[in-house]
Amino acid sequence: MDGGMKPTVAPVLILLGPPGAGKGTQARMLEETYGLIQLSTGDLLRAAVAAGTPAGKQAKAVMEAGDLVSDEIVIATLRDRLMEDDCAKGVILDGFPRTIVQAAALDALLSDTGQRINAAISLEVEDAAMVARISGRFSCGGCGEGYHDSFKPTAKPGICDHCGSTEMKRRADDNAETVAQRLEAYHAQTAPLIDYYETKGALSRVPAMGAIDDIAAQLHDVVSQATA
Ligand code: AMP
Repeated sequence: MDGGMKPTVAPVLILLGPPGAGKGTQARMLEETYGLIQLSTGDLLRAAVAAGTPAGKQAKAVMEAGDLVSDEIVIATLRDRLMEDDCAKGVILDGFPRTIVQAAALDALLSDTGQRINAAISLEVEDAAMVARISGRFSCGGCGEGYHDSFKPTAKPGICDHCGSTEMKRRADDNAETVAQRLEAYHAQTAPLIDYYETKGALSRVPAMGAIDDIAAQLHDVVSQATA
């Protein structure tokens, strides 16, 4: 975004879509282009699990089963992160909200700070392709860059293109059984948010079955308009 026309209130973007839709990949690209902060509740919860915090201890088994962590824990986790100074630049929410209760909590949090949702963007994909997308994915332990065995391999095997690290990670919940449960949780609890944001006039739909760069280009159009 150029300096001259900066809105006074920092933008808030939401990426909606099932696991494997590409929310994390696209959020990272938007973060770089627009100088926004990517807020992934999945990443925050994985960090809490790794650190062994009380919230992490409660979330661990739920995440391994592919179910949704309680609204109470997720909202508190998101609220704490949103209060940190860097989020004043604007945020891309990746994986939050995932229930109507979380969406209402977000509305309340934003109204407290005088912010609003610029756009809720639904990445439109077919369920059948999601298992293949998720089962092949891995990420760099050094910088977090995401990769995929078939769709986005590293240029040199085992070495991150971005930072050169050789530490690659696969998520414990990226296996076929857990993915099926995560898709079920998405349809039962998260898909209703598409109507929620459509009713508010905040929804944009972006077809997301194609190549990563083509999807990024379409998202760029939506985001430029929503933050203008
Ligand atoms: P993700 O990295 O977004 O795929 O999230 C991984 C897992 O973290 C999910 O399967 C849930 O168990 C949990 N999780 C992440 N975000 C939320 C959320 N907003 N609400 C409930 N559970 C969440």
